[in-house]
Amino acid sequence: MFFKKNKPVIRDRNKHCISRANIDPDAVKVLYRLSNSNYISYMVGGSVRDLLLGRCPKDFDISTDAQPAQIRKLFRNCFLIGRRFRLAHIVFGRKVIETSTFRAQPEPTEGDSALYQSEDNTFGTPEQDAKRRDFTVNGLFYDIKTFAVIDYVDGLKDLENKVIRSIGDPNVRFREDPVRMMRAVRFAAKLNFTIDKGCCKALKKHHADILNASVPRVCEEVYRLFTVNASEKAFRLMWEFKLLEDLLPEINEYINRSGKNTSPLWRYLAALDRMPENGSFSNGVRTAVLFYPLFLEQCNRESEATPHGRVNRTHVARKVLNHLVSSLHIPKAIFYATVSAMDLIPRFDPMPTQARARRFVRNSNFEDAFIFKQIVAAAEGDTFETLAQWKELCNAVEPGEIIDQHHDEGDRAPRRRRRHPGRGRQKQRQA
Ligand code: ATP
Ligand code: MG
Repeated sequence: MFFKKNKPVIRDRNKHCISRANIDPDAVKVLYRLSNSNYISYMVGGSVRDLLLGRCPKDFDISTDAQPAQIRKLFRNCFLIGRRFRLAHIVFGRKVIETSTFRAQPEPTEGDSALYQSEDNTFGTPEQDAKRRDFTVNGLFYDIKTFAVIDYVDGLKDLENKVIRSIGDPNVRFREDPVRMMRAVRFAAKLNFTIDKGCCKALKKHHADILNASVPRVCEEVYRLFTVNASEKAFRLMWEFKLLEDLLPEINEYINRSGKNTSPLWRYLAALDRMPENGSFSNGVRTAVLFYPLFLEQCNRESEATPHGRVNRTHVARKVLNHLVSSLHIPKAIFYATVSAMDLIPRFDPMPTQARARRFVRNSNFEDAFIFKQIVAAAEGDTFETLAQWKELCNAVEPGEIIDQHHDEGDRAPRRRRRHPGRGRQKQRQA
């Protein structure tokens, strides 16, 4: 292990703000059942960090010295996942409380390639478990037995100073797992924290290592950057640390062309951040916002190049998204949802006939397109005069009336048009 053994800072119940009332009741149940069976039982990671900051955690993770099979014995609703390092998922309806056994950072072996972390983790002590985590503010424990916060990594100090600092040398930790660089950016944006000097230097030095990370993880992390209310800040940091240059070079060049401070992209992302419930928008809407300024630029370029000045929006949208598909392997469902959101924008204004408008609202692509249209209108300072009419029409539609035009969550290409569209509708009417 490359860390010295040391005593943790213990912050007693009366000196911090975490109360059991703010912890998910099912997580409390799991914590107590482990503890009552004489295992160490800690709430860990993002949930402790968020509760200490007075924020509402997204999920509640638990760590314990009970081994996976022992956890399994205690909970009938427990499923063990993962091959090398087994994690317990304790399931309550649709909710999962992830419970892991304390583990240690794998020993780095000789050679440069050994830096990249294998999944071959071994069980460890609470201290080792704290120190294998990414940032000090993510390495805190809450002990259900004493209600104290246990800090092996100086996370409490960094939480108070609003700093994202790597646990251990960031030059090593970022190369072990380059996705941590994107996580640093995400947490700085989400929590409005600064990234400490050491991490900034390491980010600048190792940003290109992100291309060595697993593509699905990177893709997932790109969408996690659309963190609640802070995607503009997250993408500004991605640009600043050149991670955007590595992952989305076309967006990076667009920002360089349009001015790093004044790029219209920042307006679109800021408009998304101001929308209520932006945390639950689909990845299709998010991708559409990210690529829309580039799409507009390309539409203008193509319309200038044709004598009639008309452009095929679908064609342009596909072209603009091409690199994203090949580099980040975004699922086809996201690709089609993005193309459709960009394509449908002109259908809102002017208001079509009542029959056409009703048909549009019943289209399953409508919801994303409507959210996207509102973001675009806000970014462009457009009053979107027909907004109230569209909202009224939406409220009048029953869920059963939605016609599925989605290309599914799976990987299917869009369905072909029926050869006799009228017949299907007649049958539906008869039914
Ligand atoms: P969020 O609120 O966005 O979910 P989080 O801190 O809970 O933030 P998760 O991705 O859910 O983040 O991970 C849970 C915890 O697991 C983190 O707080 C951190 O301690 C640890 N962790 C996650 N990813 C890594 C990583 N790549 N390297 C080291 N530790 C990690
Ligand atoms: Mg989490």
